[in-house]
Amino acid sequence: MSDCIFCKIVDGSIPSTKVYEDDKILAFKDLNPQAPVHTLIVPKQHICCADQITADNCEIVGYIFSKIPEIAKSLGLENGYRIVNNCGEDGCQSVKHLHFHLLGGKKLAENMA
Ligand code: AMP
Ligand code: ZN
Repeated sequence: MSDCIFCKIVDGSIPSTKVYEDDKILAFKDLNPQAPVHTLIVPKQHICCADQITADNCEIVGYIFSKIPEIAKSLGLENGYRIVNNCGEDGCQSVKHLHFHLLGGKKLAENMA
């Protein structure tokens, strides 16, 4: 997607601070961190949001979650963390490329909404 900022981060035309990368996914620091550790994990393929996950493309979601323990450990999140996905208008999704927020580095607020 030519107008998608996370596709541009994936292809390197927009810089990011990379935390983890392989052939399928990229993790990079959020520009506006909301916790001491705030990393975004994205599939390299463009999927707009959680609402567009199907039987055909859901494998990447499992793959991301299979890598989260390794990414979290590399970030020092031994005491736990939170994974957040915002979807659509009511979910306040601002970037329309599927991403998971990995938040931690302190005791997070209990309030989720
Ligand atoms: P969401 O509101 O769930 O769509 O989250 C989008 C996130 O992307 C926000 O936390 C932004 O701070 C973050 N963000 C936007 N542009 C960039 C960028 N160029 N590099 C890193 N993070 C970004
Ligand atoms: Zn994209």
